[in-house]
Amino acid sequence: MAQTTPNHTQTVSGWAAHDSSGKITPYVFKRRENGIDDVTIQILYCGICHTDLHHVRNDWGITMYPVVPGHEITGVITKVGSNVKRFKEGDRVGVGCLAASCLECEFCKDSQENYCDQIQFTYNGIFWDGSITYGGYSKMLVADQRYVVHVPANLPMDAAAPLLCAGITVFSPMKDNNMLDSPGKKLGVIGLGGLGHVAVKFGKAFGLHVTVISTSPSKEEEARDRLGADDFIVSTSAQQMKAGTRTLDFILDTVSAEHSLGPYLELLKVNGTLVIVGAPDKPMGLPSFPLIFGKRAIKGSMTGGMKETQEMMDVCGKHNITCDVEVITPHKINEALDRLARNDVRYRFVIDIADKPSNL
Ligand code: NAP
Ligand code: ZN
Repeated sequence: MAQTTPNHTQTVSGWAAHDSSGKITPYVFKRRENGIDDVTIQILYCGICHTDLHHVRNDWGITMYPVVPGHEITGVITKVGSNVKRFKEGDRVGVGCLAASCLECEFCKDSQENYCDQIQFTYNGIFWDGSITYGGYSKMLVADQRYVVHVPANLPMDAAAPLLCAGITVFSPMKDNNMLDSPGKKLGVIGLGGLGHVAVKFGKAFGLHVTVISTSPSKEEEARDRLGADDFIVSTSAQQMKAGTRTLDFILDTVSAEHSLGPYLELLKVNGTLVIVGAPDKPMGLPSFPLIFGKRAIKGSMTGGMKETQEMMDVCGKHNITCDVEVITPHKINEALDRLARNDVRYRFVIDIADKPSNL
């Protein structure tokens, strides 16, 4: 049932899932008035992140229906609040996973808002006024300016949209683990999907030797030829995995489904680090021996802070990094989600929100 919150007077057309079947249908709802720190954005494009799929199907058991997914949003500002200085009407902007944070804790003060323990997400969050947040599968968004970034002029808005989640989610741990200033180091990327393919692009832009570790032999040719990967290991081949033992300095695990970490850890050199960004709904197998015998470390990482997100967008502008996208009309959202679940996308679906009618 549609929520009613004071000041939520603006009617918006969007698309929502209403139960764990995950089926998306048109949904009309209300957004808040543009406040003094807010900007109103006409949404042009929204990427379909695997996190959207986890949410619409309630994989993690946390979905509040109806859920309007979408946190890879690009659009144009149509209104600014009186406190807003960084943006003006007509600006090309992006919004990612974050809608609000406490602004007072050590993480907020250090622009690591993503680690604030009161973080509110762009969708399926509870905003300060008690309303449930609705995401980018919709025509218009009211966003606090603190969680909005500029999109560099040279980047197309469709292929830039997935940078707002997929891009920053891989950029942040790469930077945090000094991989962006270590040319020649060996990066491994597990899973060549939305997140993984951007990680390969960042790796090449920063002079790394990039190995893709994939369950899909069919992705090898384009991983090498189009994305510039240096090596490709088919993870289901025991022989290829063995040949890769102790070859990598750092691994990003972007896998969305249950898997054991043991075989992947063996690919790390002694002292190497594996960062988990993929979020399967079931615990992952973690044998102790590959950790102990290789003095290896495992960490996690969640999206990125706002300062870092702007930095990432600017890096993409400078290096002309965008996502490989398949742009769809809104009436294909269900088909796209099904194909994403089947690992049938190269490498991100992006919904053309603006130009099409708002019915499915
Ligand atoms: P995606 O486009 O579906 O890519 C995931 C890739 O994982 C697939 O393309 C596939 O690559 C591989 N894969 C799938 N099933 C597998 C299995 N059973 N075993 C091994 N590999 C498998 O998804 P995405 O949008 O990149 O998101 C990936 C995960 O990251 C999701 O769980 C999402 O929720 C999570 N996520 C986390 C954050 C964060 O802040 N930490 C942010 C965004 C997304 P191959 O065909 O190459 O094997
Ligand atoms: Zn995402």
